[in-house]
Amino acid sequence: MRKKVIAGNWKMNKTVSEANAFVAEVKDKLPQSEQVEAIVCAPFLHLPSLVEMAKGTELKIAAQNMHDQEHGAFTGEISPTMLTDIGVTHVIIGHSERREYFAETDDTVNKKVHAAFKHGLTPIVCVGETLEQREANETKNHVASQVTKAIAGLTDDQIEKTIIAYEPIWAIGTGKTASSEDANEVCQHIRETIKAETSVDVADKVIIQYGGSVKPSNVDELLSQSDIDGALVGGASLEAGSFLQLVEAGLNE
Ligand code: PGA
Repeated sequence: MRKKVIAGNWKMNKTVSEANAFVAEVKDKLPQSEQVEAIVCAPFLHLPSLVEMAKGTELKIAAQNMHDQEHGAFTGEISPTMLTDIGVTHVIIGHSERREYFAETDDTVNKKVHAAFKHGLTPIVCVGETLEQREANETKNHVASQVTKAIAGLTDDQIEKTIIAYEPIWAIGTGKTASSEDANEVCQHIRETIKAETSVDVADKVIIQYGGSVKPSNVDELLSQSDIDGALVGGASLEAGSFLQLVEAGLNE
Protein backbone atom coordinates (compact mmCIF):
# COMPACT_ATOMS: atom_id res chain seq x y z
CA MET A 1 0.00 0.00 0.00
CA ARG A 2 1.15 3.52 -0.77
CA LYS A 3 1.92 5.79 2.18
CA LYS A 4 0.28 9.20 2.51
CA VAL A 5 2.45 12.26 2.02
CA ILE A 6 1.29 15.53 3.55
CA ALA A 7 3.31 18.55 2.45
CA GLY A 8 2.79 22.10 3.69
CA ASN A 9 3.62 24.68 1.05
CA TRP A 10 4.24 27.88 2.97
CA LYS A 11 4.79 29.96 -0.19
CA MET A 12 6.15 33.44 0.71
CA ASN A 13 4.94 33.38 4.29
CA LYS A 14 6.59 33.41 7.74
CA THR A 15 9.78 35.04 8.95
CA VAL A 16 12.68 32.76 9.92
CA SER A 17 11.79 33.11 13.61
CA GLU A 18 8.13 32.29 12.94
CA ALA A 19 9.21 29.25 10.92
CA ASN A 20 11.55 28.07 13.69
CA ALA A 21 8.75 28.41 16.25
CA PHE A 22 6.44 26.33 14.03
CA VAL A 23 8.95 23.50 13.64
CA ALA A 24 9.81 23.58 17.36
CA GLU A 25 6.12 23.06 18.06
CA VAL A 26 5.34 20.28 15.57
CA LYS A 27 8.55 18.25 15.27
CA ASP A 28 8.01 15.95 18.25
CA LYS A 29 4.26 15.66 17.83
CA LEU A 30 4.29 14.02 14.41
CA PRO A 31 3.14 10.41 14.17
CA GLN A 32 5.98 7.89 14.05
CA SER A 33 4.58 5.72 11.32
CA GLU A 34 5.59 4.38 7.95
CA GLN A 35 2.07 5.12 6.83
CA VAL A 36 2.44 8.88 6.65
CA GLU A 37 5.19 11.35 5.76
CA ALA A 38 5.18 15.02 6.79
CA ILE A 39 7.02 17.67 4.79
CA VAL A 40 7.33 21.43 5.17
CA CYS A 41 8.20 23.37 2.00
CA ALA A 42 9.75 26.60 3.22
CA PRO A 43 11.35 29.69 1.67
CA PHE A 44 15.09 29.24 0.89
CA LEU A 45 16.23 31.54 3.70
CA HIS A 46 14.52 29.36 6.29
CA LEU A 47 15.91 26.02 5.14
CA PRO A 48 19.25 25.75 7.04
CA SER A 49 17.76 26.25 10.50
CA LEU A 50 14.67 24.15 9.76
CA VAL A 51 16.79 21.23 8.51
CA GLU A 52 18.90 21.41 11.68
CA MET A 53 15.84 21.49 13.91
CA ALA A 54 14.14 18.64 12.08
CA LYS A 55 17.14 16.27 12.30
CA GLY A 56 16.24 13.01 14.03
CA THR A 57 12.50 13.75 13.80
CA GLU A 58 9.77 12.62 11.41
CA LEU A 59 9.68 15.99 9.63
CA LYS A 60 11.24 16.45 6.18
CA ILE A 61 12.19 19.86 4.87
CA ALA A 62 11.68 20.84 1.23
CA ALA A 63 12.43 23.81 -1.00
CA GLN A 64 9.69 25.43 -3.09
CA ASN A 65 11.80 25.74 -6.23
CA MET A 66 15.39 25.52 -7.50
CA HIS A 67 17.46 26.12 -10.63
CA ASP A 68 18.41 23.15 -12.80
CA GLN A 69 22.11 24.09 -12.99
CA GLU A 70 24.66 23.34 -10.26
CA HIS A 71 26.25 26.80 -10.34
CA GLY A 72 26.77 29.74 -12.64
CA ALA A 73 25.73 33.26 -13.54
CA PHE A 74 22.08 33.06 -12.49
CA THR A 75 21.62 35.96 -10.11
CA GLY A 76 19.13 35.29 -7.37
CA GLU A 77 18.85 31.55 -8.00
CA ILE A 78 19.48 28.53 -5.76
CA SER A 79 21.02 25.31 -7.09
CA PRO A 80 20.28 21.66 -6.30
CA THR A 81 23.73 21.20 -4.75
CA MET A 82 23.11 24.12 -2.39
CA LEU A 83 19.98 22.34 -1.21
CA THR A 84 21.47 18.87 -0.77
CA ASP A 85 24.57 20.31 0.93
CA ILE A 86 22.43 21.48 3.85
CA GLY A 87 20.26 18.35 3.98
CA VAL A 88 17.12 19.32 2.08
CA THR A 89 15.40 16.16 0.76
CA HIS A 90 12.47 17.33 -1.40
CA VAL A 91 11.73 20.18 -3.79
CA ILE A 92 8.51 21.46 -5.32
CA ILE A 93 8.85 21.80 -9.09
CA GLY A 94 6.54 23.73 -11.39
CA HIS A 95 3.97 25.03 -8.92
CA SER A 96 1.25 26.84 -10.88
CA GLU A 97 2.34 30.13 -9.28
CA ARG A 98 5.87 29.57 -10.67
CA ARG A 99 4.40 28.73 -14.07
CA GLU A 100 2.14 31.79 -14.03
CA TYR A 101 4.36 34.49 -12.46
CA PHE A 102 7.87 33.24 -13.20
CA ALA A 103 7.52 31.89 -16.72
CA GLU A 104 8.14 28.24 -15.87
CA THR A 105 7.19 25.86 -18.64
CA ASP A 106 6.87 22.11 -19.12
CA ASP A 107 10.42 22.26 -20.48
CA THR A 108 11.94 24.01 -17.44
CA VAL A 109 9.97 21.65 -15.21
CA ASN A 110 11.46 18.63 -16.99
CA LYS A 111 15.00 20.05 -16.68
CA LYS A 112 14.49 20.69 -12.96
CA VAL A 113 13.06 17.21 -12.37
CA HIS A 114 16.15 15.68 -14.00
CA ALA A 115 18.39 17.94 -11.91
CA ALA A 116 16.55 16.93 -8.74
CA PHE A 117 17.16 13.23 -9.37
CA LYS A 118 20.76 13.83 -10.40
CA HIS A 119 21.33 15.27 -6.94
CA GLY A 120 19.21 12.87 -4.93
CA LEU A 121 16.29 15.22 -4.29
CA THR A 122 12.70 14.00 -4.51
CA PRO A 123 10.66 16.28 -6.78
CA ILE A 124 7.05 17.18 -5.99
CA VAL A 125 5.82 18.04 -9.48
CA CYS A 126 2.72 20.23 -9.68
CA VAL A 127 0.19 19.94 -12.48
CA GLY A 128 -3.34 21.26 -12.86
CA GLU A 129 -5.85 22.99 -15.08
CA THR A 130 -7.30 26.50 -15.16
CA LEU A 131 -11.02 27.11 -14.76
CA GLU A 132 -11.29 27.77 -18.51
CA GLN A 133 -9.66 24.44 -19.27
CA ARG A 134 -11.98 22.64 -16.85
CA GLU A 135 -15.04 24.26 -18.37
CA ALA A 136 -13.84 23.36 -21.87
CA ASN A 137 -13.48 19.73 -20.74
CA GLU A 138 -9.72 19.84 -21.30
CA THR A 139 -8.64 18.88 -17.79
CA LYS A 140 -7.53 15.32 -18.41
CA ASN A 141 -5.68 16.05 -21.65
CA HIS A 142 -3.94 19.06 -20.17
CA VAL A 143 -2.88 17.33 -16.98
CA ALA A 144 -1.74 14.20 -18.84
CA SER A 145 0.36 16.34 -21.15
CA GLN A 146 1.96 18.17 -18.21
CA VAL A 147 2.78 14.85 -16.51
CA THR A 148 4.18 13.25 -19.67
CA LYS A 149 6.42 16.25 -20.34
CA ALA A 150 7.56 16.49 -16.71
CA ILE A 151 8.72 12.86 -16.57
CA ALA A 152 10.14 12.66 -20.11
CA GLY A 153 13.53 10.94 -20.17
CA LEU A 154 13.40 9.68 -16.58
CA THR A 155 14.13 6.05 -15.75
CA ASP A 156 11.34 3.88 -14.33
CA ASP A 157 13.14 3.95 -11.01
CA GLN A 158 13.04 7.76 -11.00
CA ILE A 159 9.42 7.94 -12.13
CA GLU A 160 8.36 5.67 -9.30
CA LYS A 161 9.97 8.05 -6.80
CA THR A 162 8.42 11.19 -8.30
CA ILE A 163 5.62 12.77 -6.29
CA ILE A 164 2.91 14.34 -8.45
CA ALA A 165 0.68 17.02 -6.96
CA TYR A 166 -2.58 17.50 -8.84
CA GLU A 167 -3.64 21.06 -8.09
CA PRO A 168 -6.54 22.53 -10.07
CA ILE A 169 -5.55 26.18 -10.35
CA TRP A 170 -9.08 27.40 -9.66
CA ALA A 171 -9.01 25.62 -6.30
CA ILE A 172 -5.75 27.12 -5.03
CA GLY A 173 -6.22 29.65 -2.25
CA THR A 174 -9.84 30.21 -3.28
CA GLY A 175 -11.62 28.06 -0.71
CA LYS A 176 -13.06 26.03 -3.61
CA THR A 177 -12.04 22.38 -3.50
CA ALA A 178 -12.57 19.93 -6.30
CA SER A 179 -15.07 17.32 -5.12
CA SER A 180 -13.20 14.29 -3.87
CA GLU A 181 -14.64 12.21 -6.74
CA ASP A 182 -13.55 14.75 -9.37
CA ALA A 183 -10.10 15.03 -7.81
CA ASN A 184 -9.79 11.26 -7.69
CA GLU A 185 -10.83 10.91 -11.31
CA VAL A 186 -8.01 13.19 -12.42
CA CYS A 187 -5.52 11.47 -10.10
CA GLN A 188 -6.58 8.13 -11.63
CA HIS A 189 -6.02 9.59 -15.07
CA ILE A 190 -2.54 10.69 -14.01
CA ARG A 191 -1.79 7.15 -12.85
CA GLU A 192 -3.10 5.76 -16.16
CA THR A 193 -0.85 8.23 -18.00
CA ILE A 194 2.18 7.08 -16.02
CA LYS A 195 1.21 3.46 -16.63
CA ALA A 196 1.15 4.08 -20.39
CA GLU A 197 4.66 5.57 -20.14
CA THR A 198 6.03 2.83 -17.87
CA SER A 199 4.20 -0.16 -16.35
CA VAL A 200 1.43 -0.99 -13.87
CA ASP A 201 4.10 -1.75 -11.30
CA VAL A 202 5.70 1.67 -11.54
CA ALA A 203 2.40 3.56 -11.79
CA ASP A 204 1.08 1.79 -8.70
CA LYS A 205 3.97 3.09 -6.63
CA VAL A 206 3.78 6.77 -7.58
CA ILE A 207 2.49 9.09 -4.85
CA ILE A 208 -0.18 11.41 -6.25
CA GLN A 209 -1.27 14.27 -4.01
CA TYR A 210 -4.24 16.55 -4.32
CA GLY A 211 -3.82 20.26 -3.61
CA GLY A 212 -6.17 23.24 -3.58
CA SER A 213 -7.90 24.51 -0.42
CA VAL A 214 -7.23 21.32 1.53
CA LYS A 215 -8.01 21.79 5.22
CA PRO A 216 -8.66 19.62 8.28
CA SER A 217 -12.40 19.55 7.52
CA ASN A 218 -12.08 18.11 4.00
CA VAL A 219 -8.81 16.16 4.15
CA ASP A 220 -10.33 12.85 5.34
CA GLU A 221 -12.70 12.62 2.43
CA LEU A 222 -9.97 13.45 -0.09
CA LEU A 223 -7.52 10.95 1.41
CA SER A 224 -10.15 8.21 1.44
CA GLN A 225 -10.16 8.19 -2.37
CA SER A 226 -8.43 5.32 -4.17
CA ASP A 227 -5.82 7.37 -6.02
CA ILE A 228 -5.20 10.33 -3.70
CA ASP A 229 -2.09 9.58 -1.66
CA GLY A 230 -1.65 12.81 0.18
CA ALA A 231 -2.04 16.55 0.00
CA LEU A 232 -0.06 19.65 -0.90
CA VAL A 233 -1.46 22.31 1.38
CA GLY A 234 -0.95 26.07 1.36
CA GLY A 235 -3.10 28.16 3.70
CA ALA A 236 -4.04 25.41 6.15
CA SER A 237 -0.40 24.37 6.64
CA LEU A 238 0.66 27.68 8.16
CA GLU A 239 -0.69 27.01 11.61
CA ALA A 240 0.95 24.22 13.63
CA GLY A 241 -2.27 22.74 15.02
CA SER A 242 -3.89 22.58 11.61
CA PHE A 243 -0.76 21.06 10.00
CA LEU A 244 -0.66 18.36 12.69
CA GLN A 245 -4.33 17.54 12.09
CA LEU A 246 -3.66 17.17 8.37
CA VAL A 247 -0.75 14.83 8.97
CA GLU A 248 -2.75 12.77 11.45
CA ALA A 249 -5.50 12.38 8.86
CA GLY A 250 -2.97 10.42 6.82
CA LEU A 251 -3.02 7.73 9.51
CA ASN A 252 -6.74 7.16 9.29
CA GLU A 253 -6.83 5.87 5.76
P1 PGA B 1 -3.99 26.26 -0.82
O1 PGA B 1 -2.64 26.16 -1.70
O2 PGA B 1 -4.02 25.05 0.07
O3 PGA B 1 -3.84 27.54 -0.03
O4 PGA B 1 -5.13 26.30 -1.77
C1 PGA B 1 -2.23 24.93 -2.23
C2 PGA B 1 -0.97 25.11 -3.05
O5 PGA B 1 -0.85 26.11 -3.77
O6 PGA B 1 -0.08 24.25 -3.02
